[in-house]
Amino acid sequence: LEDRLRKSDTLNVVGELAAGIAHEIRNPMTALKGFIQLLEGSVKDDFSMYFNVIKSELTRIESIITEFLVLAKPQAVHFEQNSIVKIMKETMELLNAQAIFSNVQLELRESGEIPSIYCEPNQMKQVFINILKNAIEVMPNGGMVKTILKMKDSQNLCIQISDEGNGIPEDKLKRLGEPFYTTKDRGTGLGLMVSYKIIEEHCGQVTVESEVGKGTTFYITLPAGSGGTDT
Ligand code: ADP
Ligand code: MG
Repeated sequence: LEDRLRKSDTLNVVGELAAGIAHEIRNPMTALKGFIQLLEGSVKDDFSMYFNVIKSELTRIESIITEFLVLAKPQAVHFEQNSIVKIMKETMELLNAQAIFSNVQLELRESGEIPSIYCEPNQMKQVFINILKNAIEVMPNGGMVKTILKMKDSQNLCIQISDEGNGIPEDKLKRLGEPFYTTKDRGTGLGLMVSYKIIEEHCGQVTVESEVGKGTTFYITLPAGSGGTDT
């Protein structure tokens, strides 16, 4: 329990810090991008290689910011009854280009009636983006990401997201959600931290099952119905 408490404390501190920093970085980033575009158009010599590096690094900074974009806009937080099906469909549309590029198919299945749930739609979208992005990234040669929405029991909705990637070794499973834990060359290790924090704030739970060489499944459980906090 102590371990879990400590992890949750770290999550809060890092989450708030990240949100503040993200917010501060976004405006100067926009200015930088604009002026670099202007500069590229007005420089006579061929510096295209330099410009490509600058632009790709800026894109990288942008993607880091995107991983906690929602936390960076706390004023936009608005909890209400929402259709998870609709939110998931919108998220998949957002990621469709990246999926096609990686030859990955995003499949969505609804099993039975899915009630609306009390949630913050942008935060939910952020969670789905982060988990689906990981699933796409873990299959560089293509594959299938299966998402299933169903009731777990009479009280709880379950969102199941499975990939066919190389899986996660058992000793690494407990590190998921740790701030800055990443196994990627250009990873941030922030996507799951942010996602776990959001689900925790929705009184939900994330569990992970994985088999090395076969794939990984994320299970997100959320209280269904009007409650959320105190049913
Ligand atoms: P990042 O994607 O920037 O590395 P995340 O917080 O999104 O940061 O993920 C942390 C780490 O968890 C990843 O680097 C990877 O090792 C592991 N991981 C997350 N999702 C998956 C997945 N679907 N399959 C295999 N490993 C995963
Ligand atoms: Mg990620």
